[in-house]
Amino acid sequence: MVMTDRGLPEETRMMREVCRTFVDDFVTPFIRKNWQREWSMDPDERMPREILEQADRIGIRTLGVPEEFGGTPLDPKTEVRTFAMVAEEISRGDSGLGDKLVQIWRISSLLRNIAPRHLQERWFPRLVEDPGFLLAHCLTEPRGASDRWLPYDVPDAMMHTKAVPKGDRWVINGRKQFITNGYDAKLYVVYATTRPGAGMTKGTSSFLVPRDTPGLSVARCNETLGGRFMNSGEIVFEDCAVPQDHLLVENHALSKAGIYFRPGKIIVAAKNLGVGMAAFERTADYVQNYVQGGRILIKHQAVALRLADMATKLAAVRAMLNEAMRAIDAAAPDADALCNMVKLFASEEVFKVCQHAIELHGGNGIMLDFGVEKLLRDASLFLHRDATVDISKFKIVKAMFPETAGVYAGPEK
Ligand SMILES: Cc1cc2nc3c(=O)[nH]c(=O)nc-3n(C[C@H](O)[C@H](O)[C@H](O)COP(=O)(O)OP(=O)(O)OC[C@H]3O[C@@H](n4cnc5c(N)ncnc54)[C@H](O)[C@@H]3O)c2cc1C
Repeated sequence: MVMTDRGLPEETRMMREVCRTFVDDFVTPFIRKNWQREWSMDPDERMPREILEQADRIGIRTLGVPEEFGGTPLDPKTEVRTFAMVAEEISRGDSGLGDKLVQIWRISSLLRNIAPRHLQERWFPRLVEDPGFLLAHCLTEPRGASDRWLPYDVPDAMMHTKAVPKGDRWVINGRKQFITNGYDAKLYVVYATTRPGAGMTKGTSSFLVPRDTPGLSVARCNETLGGRFMNSGEIVFEDCAVPQDHLLVENHALSKAGIYFRPGKIIVAAKNLGVGMAAFERTADYVQNYVQGGRILIKHQAVALRLADMATKLAAVRAMLNEAMRAIDAAAPDADALCNMVKLFASEEVFKVCQHAIELHGGNGIMLDFGVEKLLRDASLFLHRDATVDISKFKIVKAMFPETAGVYAGPEK
């Protein structure tokens, strides 16, 4: 299928080639050969460190880290486009690996914008030095992440995780779940209530919490349907005392989180597109080689119809992705709605593309060792992450009709 590199700067095009080679030479062969590892290995052994080391060698692990601290230099004008392009390519190989890397880029960009200089000087060099260094962003708790996305800004919807100042420390107590990289990360951005009763937009602060801080424990790996090489984690904070200077944003942390979330929707959609591209490529190859009814599958009209449907859906996701990126670059008023639209559209359409892929592979599509079912499992995660499908729809309507849209939550009358 045509990749449509149209409009990409030469450097970005070259980076895409490097990523494709990495995926085709390292990632895909590893995943195909080691399909049992998702299920049979402990989370810390599922993906060997060499894959991250190779990602580091080709310069894609530390995107988002400022160049002065050793990160890969990027043109800020095309940064989101580059993140999206690399995310798509890597997720074509494995969506969990895509998650591992994307969190580094998104959180590095956030820290570059909000972390005080001394924290950047302390943590970016450590991240750059260690290819196994992962980052995580902890908002979700055992109850009601959707309230945060809406946002439902009332005291009773505030986070249960709390931080209180004590001497020269902030003491954090609470629990976070479903955190991407949560099981393996060495550094966490953690959101906690600091002004109970103020509502979440005025009473939530963010902190940088190193993994080895006493009181922080990783309770478990949240075992997931797909994206299993990502290692989602549940983290508990029990009188976890962080130095006062590890405060990132006091009380208004959610207003700054847009730096992470808005381009994040684009990157999530791009990762999702990578999964869809893998499904299409595998299927296109299969139907041109597998013979049924005396002819290769592609020569059966019903197969051709499904294949055309898959290609059209993917082209539509790509077109919307490009439109949303242009809107972000231009700081256009519809950028917010478009970012939510593409996240939503990609998650629903790529899921259907993967369903077609399974159907066209027949029984092979269901077999674990064939690896096509993995793409459907990986695609399913995108329906729920970074806001569910329904909450994304509410956000689109709110962005388009801010004065008249509903609040979607609150006590029953
Ligand atoms: C793969 C994956 C990775 C993730 N990574 C991270 C991460 O790195 N960091 C992080 O903090 N979180 C992460 N999350 C959490 C994710 O953001 C939440 O799971 C998601 O926002 C949904 O929240 P919830 O699970 O609490 O569901 P709930 O909010 O409990 O929602 C349950 C259902 O109710 C619906 N619903 C809820 N409220 C309303 C309403 N007012 N009106 C109508 N319907 C409603 C929802 O649409 C959904 O269908 C991740 C999740 C997944 C699956």
